[in-house]
Amino acid sequence: MRHASAGGPFSVERFHRVIKPQGFAIRKDAAHRPGRCQDPTITEDRRVILRLMNSVRLGSFIACLIAGLGMPWAAHGQGSNDLPTLGDASSSLISPEMERRIGEDFLKQVRAALPTVDDPVLKYYVETQVAELAQYSELREAVLQAILIDNEQINAFAAPGGVIGINLGLMLHAEDVHEYASVIGHELAHLSQRHFARGIEVQRAQALPTLAAMVAAIMIGAIGGGDAGMAAVSGVQAATQANQLRYSRGREQEADRVGLNTVVRAGLDPQGMVRMFERMHRAYRFTSKPPEFLLTHPLSETRIADVRSQVQQYGPKHYPRSLDYQMMRNRTRLHFADSPESMVKVFERELKEQPDDVATQYGLALALSAAEEHGEAIAMLDRILVSNPRNILYSASLAEALIQAGMTDQAIALVERELAINPDNAPLAMIQAEALIAKGRHLEAEAVLERQSVVQQGDVDVWYNLAEVSGLAGNIIGVHLARAQFFYLHAAYQRALQHLEYARRLTSREDEASIARLNQRIADLRTKLREQRS
Ligand SMILES: [Zn+2]
Repeated sequence: MRHASAGGPFSVERFHRVIKPQGFAIRKDAAHRPGRCQDPTITEDRRVILRLMNSVRLGSFIACLIAGLGMPWAAHGQGSNDLPTLGDASSSLISPEMERRIGEDFLKQVRAALPTVDDPVLKYYVETQVAELAQYSELREAVLQAILIDNEQINAFAAPGGVIGINLGLMLHAEDVHEYASVIGHELAHLSQRHFARGIEVQRAQALPTLAAMVAAIMIGAIGGGDAGMAAVSGVQAATQANQLRYSRGREQEADRVGLNTVVRAGLDPQGMVRMFERMHRAYRFTSKPPEFLLTHPLSETRIADVRSQVQQYGPKHYPRSLDYQMMRNRTRLHFADSPESMVKVFERELKEQPDDVATQYGLALALSAAEEHGEAIAMLDRILVSNPRNILYSASLAEALIQAGMTDQAIALVERELAINPDNAPLAMIQAEALIAKGRHLEAEAVLERQSVVQQGDVDVWYNLAEVSGLAGNIIGVHLARAQFFYLHAAYQRALQHLEYARRLTSREDEASIARLNQRIADLRTKLREQRS
């Protein structure tokens, strides 16, 4: 799937390749949800689901880029020379398998504690960009998992097992793809340098469940879970350890340096990192209540100077902006806006200054669609798609606008045409399911989402929507199975277990294969629960 082709900026053209990112987000916006299922055993957990979906917006800390928080574990030494010498990465005490498991557990904790973005187009863009940039990094593992957090602050983090977390706010603040990629490059460097494994001390290499829970708790605390996360780290000793694990200037500088090389290899502007640093420096310099971590670990002049001197060797060169990035940035601005109407005014004003700017036209079209000005919105999106018919971001956006306008048949025709070229593409399939549900074609929508649940096993939006549509299609066992997976992915094992037991009760005794599968999953979950409680 990935081409080891020559460098070059992220291009529009690359989007027609089918990339299967493994994204996760929770569909939060009730208006976008498919119809409701009335089964009483199902409605009872709506409250829990809503709580999971709207998890408190706890004040996020600033990007690890500023604060050195991305890898809030590892050596308590403060200089790069203090990194424990564990030999090369492969001989590390923490095996890649252990890292993978910690990463999975960590993702579940993040999903349960923080609101994630459910927009299939933004998720696709971010996941694709992470995969693209990873090709130019020093990362050797193929599996990366990106999670997009619904938070306006600049933040990004990396976790063991190839996990990259990004606050959607990063796209609000990073004005072009070069600035944006500098942050992603930095996080990829934390992964490729295996800062986690290198930082863990010998005596801290405890039994896996304890270690995983501790790391997850620390990370949640670090990325915005606040006290909720820290409370999970029991005891004064653990809390002290947590603080020692949180940062290291040495690792941050290494991540800057390695990340910058990645950005350059990808054909992007190395100055983007300098601009990003300066932007964050300015943004938080005068805050009356700076994030906790900035108090102890400001983005130092030294760090900015280091990056600046590394950038100097590349000399001046013109780097174009990426149209896709600017479009997705405008989509993000609309996402965080108070109302679509206010954004219609903003984009119209911007368009007066630059009438030919396609990204602004795109923003205006989305805002118009959300403001129910469907005719104008569809005409604009249609023109943008004609200019580049093979771009999934554009066709998906037009299909969404068609659904909003009630032109479901046209939307279905459009996504089916595109899916023929890009089978199983995540945003196209999600939009197809939405359109089919709007038409009352529940069985077909269920089949689409079932297929997605295989391709995108870690995507909680897929499981959420699959449960809903199974209910509409009258497949109650299906509802419970999908719900079980939804809860499992949020580490809500007790609830997941309940749903599997409901499913088993409804399954015919004669269906021995299904019963055996369910028994196995129930036994696995009981083990998970015991681990969680110990
Ligand atoms: Zn970092």
